Amino acid sequence: MATMPFILNAEEIRKQFPFFQPHPEMRNLIYLDNAATTQKPYAVIEAVSHFWAYHNANVHRGGHGVGARASELYEAARERVARFINARESAEVIFTRGTTESINLVAFSWGETFIQPGDEIIVTELEHHANLLPWMRLAERRGARLRVWPITDEGTLELETLRALLNERTRLVAVSHISNVLGVITPVAEICRLAHAAGALCLVDAAQSVAHIPVDVQAIDCDFLAFSGHKAYGPTGIGVLYAKRALLEQMPPYQVGGGMVQTVRWDRIRWAEPPAKFEAGTPPIGEAIGLHAALDFIDSIGREAIATYEHQLTEYALERLQEVPGLRLFGPRTHRAGIFAFTLEDIHPHDIATVLDSRDIAIRAGQHCAHPLSERLGGPTARASLAIYNDAAHIDALVDALHHTRKVFGYA
Ligand code: PLP
Repeated sequence: MATMPFILNAEEIRKQFPFFQPHPEMRNLIYLDNAATTQKPYAVIEAVSHFWAYHNANVHRGGHGVGARASELYEAARERVARFINARESAEVIFTRGTTESINLVAFSWGETFIQPGDEIIVTELEHHANLLPWMRLAERRGARLRVWPITDEGTLELETLRALLNERTRLVAVSHISNVLGVITPVAEICRLAHAAGALCLVDAAQSVAHIPVDVQAIDCDFLAFSGHKAYGPTGIGVLYAKRALLEQMPPYQVGGGMVQTVRWDRIRWAEPPAKFEAGTPPIGEAIGLHAALDFIDSIGREAIATYEHQLTEYALERLQEVPGLRLFGPRTHRAGIFAFTLEDIHPHDIATVLDSRDIAIRAGQHCAHPLSERLGGPTARASLAIYNDAAHIDALVDALHHTRKVFGYA
């Protein structure tokens, strides 16, 4: 059990979320599927709605005041992201649709330009498909070699194994900051340091970390970092690619079209400077403004406080889940976040999720878009994942519901 009292009051935090308020359309749900997407606070919903209601115009185009204001709000969102992740300048922040698009952008733009036959790309065994398939496809297209950094039986990544994989042909190491299945927090700063020492670049998939632990791109010294707004209390349809300025200068555009050129003549195109060079077409303006509000929300609680609270809750959950007979929890005991993949006896994970749903507890079941990892673990798992509005009572309810599930399936 947690020895210290919990440092945050999640009941108070839930008051900031319509999802947790009584409403004719709502069940009183314990929401434990935060690794898939988080709920949105009023502040985010209102920021988006206010923009659509009163400031809607296209950005970087209009010869009118409302367009100038929309552009200001959109660029303020970019500056907010830059401050949040400690980028050197806001031009290092590209808005995308999400983590998936951010990583595809790097694979297409940087990868298709700089990866040569015989080059090597290292991915880990615990990657989500978003940080796996772009590299598998790139390797196939460019005649490069994909090398897999395997996890230990405990689900961790050993730096010694990476050292053995790195060589003068390595061009990139692509790694998740937090595994969406095992919850393991990977030593990204150390990984980037080793990649750089071998002359390679380092890409960090921060989809599961940015809302839960402090993320500082300069401290990590990653070359690329990707995350999604919707897993960080913000809207869907907005994500971020951070890249070092020098790389963005060298990379060709990912998509081409309006808003990303300086001049177009029949014989010559001059691309705009980053970030515009990578944002062809009308961008997700309201969504970026919603992301701004989401990051303000996170900072209003405090990232250290969030990390400490979620760590306390994770410790509590690790203790309590042990009480359920026949429950097998994957991932390490330490250096982990509040994502718990498990099996229960030989009950199919989908059946576990269905029984829990009947008790108003939402979890996910399946392969979690990480088929190679799922295979390594022996098949599908159930997954409960925490956010700042969860508390010990939710864990207690989960444990009770898992005891109940065993009984439903005839286990004594
Ligand atoms: N990377 C990780 C570790 C994830 O957990 C996810 C989503 O679950 C993604 C990438 C993809 O995020 P999105 O679907 O928002 O692009």
